[in-house]
Amino acid sequence: MKTFENLNIAPNLVATVEALGYLEPTEIQAKAIPELLKGHDLVGLSQTGTGKTLAFLLPIISKITDERYPQALILCPTRELAEQILLEAKKLSPKSNVKAIAIFGGTDIQRQIYAIKRGVNLVIGTPGRILDHIRRKTLKLGLINTVVLDEADEMLNMGFLPDIQSILSVVPTERQTIMFSATMSKDISSIATRFMRSPVRITVGTPNATIASIKQTYFICPKDKKKRTLNALLREIPRGRTIVFCNTKKMVDSVELYLKKSGFMVLALHGDMPQNVRRRVMNEYKTEINNILVTTDIAARGIDVADILSVINFDLPQNNEYYIHRVGRTGRAGKSGSAYTLLNSPEQVAEIKEIEKKTKSHITPSTLSLEGTLDSAPTRSKPVGKKLNLKSREKRALAFGKEKRQRAGVKIVGHSKIGTKKRTIRNPHKSKIHF
Ligand code: ADP
Ligand code: MG
Repeated sequence: MKTFENLNIAPNLVATVEALGYLEPTEIQAKAIPELLKGHDLVGLSQTGTGKTLAFLLPIISKITDERYPQALILCPTRELAEQILLEAKKLSPKSNVKAIAIFGGTDIQRQIYAIKRGVNLVIGTPGRILDHIRRKTLKLGLINTVVLDEADEMLNMGFLPDIQSILSVVPTERQTIMFSATMSKDISSIATRFMRSPVRITVGTPNATIASIKQTYFICPKDKKKRTLNALLREIPRGRTIVFCNTKKMVDSVELYLKKSGFMVLALHGDMPQNVRRRVMNEYKTEINNILVTTDIAARGIDVADILSVINFDLPQNNEYYIHRVGRTGRAGKSGSAYTLLNSPEQVAEIKEIEKKTKSHITPSTLSLEGTLDSAPTRSKPVGKKLNLKSREKRALAFGKEKRQRAGVKIVGHSKIGTKKRTIRNPHKSKIHF
């Protein structure tokens, strides 16, 4: 049996890893870590939830020195993932020789500049903001010895590639380059080698495939009944942490509103939200075991929230890779899970058959009764509170009509359509809320 001890990581790290409850390395960790400690470039492919984060963090943390200049750079596609990797790095270095920072947009750049000045040796971030710092000369990457592209195929996609090229052009060529993902097409794989020197390739399990322990189902419904079908599905499946994927931010907002009106406790996350809201949503999602998160593909890659029981594709994902990553938010670290996809046309049924073949999955058809669901829900439970950022007392008062408003001491001054005209609510504590 492989143990962390015989992988040759730093002895103090072995104790930390075991204290965190990681008893033995996963297969990708056991295979990749020794190669990485030897300094080889590496492309590691292993399915979702198999522990790729530790596979690159443990060698980096083993080798990092106390000196406070950027020594290793980890690039990933989203702010949430950067923050998650930072948390994992901090957990692995409690007494720390590691001074890690997560650098991403939507946050105060000055604070990042101060933090960098105080001294960091591990930089984790999204390409845009990292590049911003490079251009401002507030982040010097001239002594970096290790670069990781997590979710590598996404990072080498057209959307990110120019930024990655610019970043790598200021990093020494004498570096170790590491790439990890659960998916990698042949085309992207050949782009990857442009940035690497004779990489070791490690493939564990079946790449470009979903995890076998995830039970996958699809439902056919008319387009105008999709929300009702989602409603019925959420009532049907076992209660537990759930994630609902939509293809657009607008649809996330619309589904969130519909589900709220229908009485579900839901959270929403997408890229148009301010960063402090995004952070709050992610934190809240982790607290309640029955939470439902409605989101875009922003949460499809890398996000590791314990015990997501169900993944629902409200919209069919745009490609095989995204199907694999979305579905892979459940069934992590050896657990099982369920994934459901809603389809609304024969073309989409053909597409899911194609996805099924390409991702080596079994996706079985099923049906649902829409009884007890509505196209739109009673306006009474209109969730004005969340949208308007009111205090809960005022939310309740607004939702339950004049009598309760009076009892709660909330007075609406003027009547206008929400969002079109300013109106003021006063509560007994004289606080004023404008919207
Ligand atoms: P991947 O990047 O492959 O999708 P992660 O690195 O996010 O997977 O890890 C998935 C989950 O597995 C995390 O919750 C992590 O804490 C857990 N994990 C990682 N390594 C081990 C291990 N050796 N033993 C048990 N659990 C592990
Ligand atoms: Mg990962």
